[in-house]
Amino acid sequence: MKKKLRLKKRYKNLLLLIILLTIIVFIPIGYKMYLENQLMKLKYSKGAISEILKQKELDTVKKIGYSETVDKAFSTGKFQKKYLESYLELTYVNHENYFENVHQLLDLGYSEIEVSLIVTHGSNSEVKKFLSHEKAEDIKAFLSIDFAKLENYDRYVNYQIEERTDEEETVLLVNIGFDRGYYENPNMVKTYSDTILVNKFNQLEEDFIPPDLVSVSEDYAVDDEQKLQKIAYDAFIKMANEAKKEDLHLLVNSSYRSFQDQVGTYQFYEELYGTNYVNRYVTKAGFSEHQTGLAIDVKARDVNVFANSNEFTWMKENAHLYGFVMRYPEDSEHITGCAYEAWHYRYLGVELATYLYENNMTYEEYYVRFLDK
Ligand SMILES: [Zn+2]
Repeated sequence: MKKKLRLKKRYKNLLLLIILLTIIVFIPIGYKMYLENQLMKLKYSKGAISEILKQKELDTVKKIGYSETVDKAFSTGKFQKKYLESYLELTYVNHENYFENVHQLLDLGYSEIEVSLIVTHGSNSEVKKFLSHEKAEDIKAFLSIDFAKLENYDRYVNYQIEERTDEEETVLLVNIGFDRGYYENPNMVKTYSDTILVNKFNQLEEDFIPPDLVSVSEDYAVDDEQKLQKIAYDAFIKMANEAKKEDLHLLVNSSYRSFQDQVGTYQFYEELYGTNYVNRYVTKAGFSEHQTGLAIDVKARDVNVFANSNEFTWMKENAHLYGFVMRYPEDSEHITGCAYEAWHYRYLGVELATYLYENNMTYEEYYVRFLDK
């Protein structure tokens, strides 16, 4: 009997221990899981949840619901409660120093909308650099234009004063490079692509040679010295053959020109017609689209002035169907930097050429708006 009693007592102690353990260990764990679950339901990330609980900000977060910026602020350990209201209005960008930058910009007196515009239009380091800029007053005017660049901000401000154009035009022209003038401090173009942009602001290296040059058949050229990138050549042949069906005869008058060729061309015309002429009609070596192997000066077989030919009329309406655009249209010198050239076509591929044709847009404008990000 005594033994049984003792056993009973032992069981009782064990039971008590289990109950105690449950209270001490499992209830807090369960409670934590319950809190975590509430945050998970709000879609907060794991990293953010543990910080939110650690900093005892559950009630704050429950009040505001989910915010990507708040989530990242917690999960990166950068959360500061005094900026909470601002976090809710800020666009989050995956920059290394996003929160340091944003906190500083807010301290400088920028509104949440302005801060969002600043961080979405520049890289992490550009934003950091911008922090040493004195407080800018017209952020919205320029940076609400979606292809604006933070790094060009001062150039927009200066150009706007000088030229008094509207903001979108200012951003467009500055991004092209017009505030700097032709050949000044150009962007060096190092890699070839079918959408390569070469103009008086974007220069090719002296030794740049396009990768896929082929000789143009004499049946389609004025002489046997013409070369083109294969993709442009194939498109030209297709186009010339279609034109031929309508008794129109397109010939390659000038095509790929090396850096050295262009040096010669420039000198030749400068001596012949003077500086004013070459400034408008001939580009300096490295700045000519002919060095890409994707540009063609077209000639009509039987007419001397291309602009007066039926071939020209046909090309105006059909060139884009083969991937070509008239690169320097009338009245666009202020965007292309080149005077009207009825004969100069550039291969850009059917899709892009069709877009430019349908929207009556130059390639410079397209490039700035859509490719130069
Ligand atoms: Zn040309």
